Amino acid sequence: MAFVGCQDCDAVVEEPDVPDGGSAICLRCGGTFFRRQRRTVEFTLALTMSAAILFVVANAYPFLSFEMQGQVTHTTLASGTAALWEQGRYAVAALVFLTTILAPALQIGLLLYVVGPIHLAGRAPGAVVAFRWVERCRPWSMMEVFLIGILVALVKLADMAEIVPGLALWAFVLLIPTLAGTSAFLDPEIVWREIGDLE
Ligand SMILES: [Zn+2]
Repeated sequence: MAFVGCQDCDAVVEEPDVPDGGSAICLRCGGTFFRRQRRTVEFTLALTMSAAILFVVANAYPFLSFEMQGQVTHTTLASGTAALWEQGRYAVAALVFLTTILAPALQIGLLLYVVGPIHLAGRAPGAVVAFRWVERCRPWSMMEVFLIGILVALVKLADMAEIVPGLALWAFVLLIPTLAGTSAFLDPEIVWREIGDLE
């Protein structure tokens, strides 16, 4: 049996069963132990599906186009990462690949894999392991850092070349809050309960 502590008066009680959308209230002081997100599965699933579409667009279309002396160069996320690697900036290339491609892809893919079947009243095989990886990937999903890097590079390049933001850049800008939203709506307790991890 799990226990929860009151943050206001330090009372410790056995974790009560709380329906979705409800709150557990401390009987001693009236403080809130915790809240259960309402419709967490539906909101998380909808946001994750939006994130998946934005992620595909962010990777499939040019990120930026440079025009220099009449020559136009298109850069995608992958080709930008590959260019960094070829320039010998291995650490930066690896970090960009991890934080903007691999971690978000895993986070989105595994969330869909775990939360999708729950919505359909089912349970994916290996859901417990998959959901653990979702939580593990989250800190590595740092696309905003990459975006800031891009903006800094743009300011430097602005005098040398004409820069046209591509569709992928806008998808990326939208992807950041969308992916953050999946974390905001996701109530891990409800997911653990549904996938039946009883350790
Ligand atoms: Zn209390």
